[in-house]
Amino acid sequence: MSELDFMRRAIELSRLNATSAGGGPFGAVVVQAGRIVGEGANRVVPDHDPTAHAEIVAIRAACRTLRSHVLDGCVIYTSCEPCPMCLGAIWWARIGEIVYGNDRVDAAAAGFDDDVLYREMAAPLDERRLPLRRMSADEARAAFELWLANPDRVAY
Ligand SMILES: [Zn+2]
Repeated sequence: MSELDFMRRAIELSRLNATSAGGGPFGAVVVQAGRIVGEGANRVVPDHDPTAHAEIVAIRAACRTLRSHVLDGCVIYTSCEPCPMCLGAIWWARIGEIVYGNDRVDAAAAGFDDDVLYREMAAPLDERRLPLRRMSADEARAAFELWLANPDRVAY
């Protein structure tokens, strides 16, 4: 399969979703060494899961396929530029490259305004729309101290 095939598969998944009563019009595939190891379409509404964006669904599938939480050397092809949540998940999965079709402006025109989240993340904490309050920092820190003292921890 070629790179174009991978992108076309991501777009096909998005198109299938767009015409069903299921999830939103988004699809993604994760590719390793020239083969698809995971794919997904948006499942937010049918799964009652606000985190079930296409990229997240594809990452979960790829991790199951490879039996690993690390997707080093993989490329994700997604029908739309990832939102900040998916960008974070892609980062944590250590995927090496993102290839996308629609961009955030296209998404906003279709009713999915990711740009508001990008702006929120760039704003100082005290200027964000979603309030953040810190509480019990000293108690919470104990988990990190236990973690650092655990010789069996798996770093990731
Ligand atoms: Zn997303």
